Amino acid sequence: MRKNIVAGNWKMNNDLKATRKLVKQIRKSIKGEDLNNTRVIVAPTFVNLATAVKRSKKSKLEVAAQNMHQATNGAYTGEISADMLKSIGVKTVILGHSERRAYFGETDALLAEKVNAALANKLEVIFCFGEELADRKAGNEEAVVEGQIKNALFHLDANAYKNIVLAYEPVWAIGTGETASPEQAQDMHAFIRKTLSAKYGNDVADSVSILYGGSVKPANAKEIFSKADVDGGLIGGASLKAEDFHAIITAF
Ligand code: PEP
Repeated sequence: MRKNIVAGNWKMNNDLKATRKLVKQIRKSIKGEDLNNTRVIVAPTFVNLATAVKRSKKSKLEVAAQNMHQATNGAYTGEISADMLKSIGVKTVILGHSERRAYFGETDALLAEKVNAALANKLEVIFCFGEELADRKAGNEEAVVEGQIKNALFHLDANAYKNIVLAYEPVWAIGTGETASPEQAQDMHAFIRKTLSAKYGNDVADSVSILYGGSVKPANAKEIFSKADVDGGLIGGASLKAEDFHAIITAF
């Protein structure tokens, strides 16, 4: 059975002190909780990953990185490799976030390389993709999403999907307060599963967790997560407050 996942993408927020505090609060908030098949992940900035890993040990909280470089090592000033993440106990990496695509020029081809590097190092990948507002207005959202998935992931064999989580994040809903309706999310998630099934068969399609991301809040999480093909959320703004994040985790 595929897992539900609630993952908090902290982006460029929280210094060391704030990281310690928020990790502690989240740990505490889920300690006695029956998480009902739900994994809970937070993704702090690179400099605070080691602290977050240390401080979430022996708890139900997992830690992910927000990005990584595709090369093993070498002259890539300012970059971080999969191996480095692994060496501090990180097991999951977010790749393809729309902010990485928009502000740092990450293309599907580059992301395919990053996915390969992550999987080769036995890191789990939370792979993000989603259409822009203009795509949706033009009725092209399915074609765009299909292209992003095919270009970055369809070179993989079926076995690789044991370590892939998909995160559908319509760009127009990220950090805007505008959320896809539960029906829009369900329609797209069902389409994504159909696309996976056409390439890899039903077993793979049914086993991959597909998260929704885009202005998920305590007030709308329950309805979005109630949809059959929505297996959780990638949460930005609302993951920065322990109380809101906890309310979203327990929305399942
Ligand atoms: C995100 O950055 O992945 C995200 C979904 O952000 P927000 O929840 O703030 O829209």
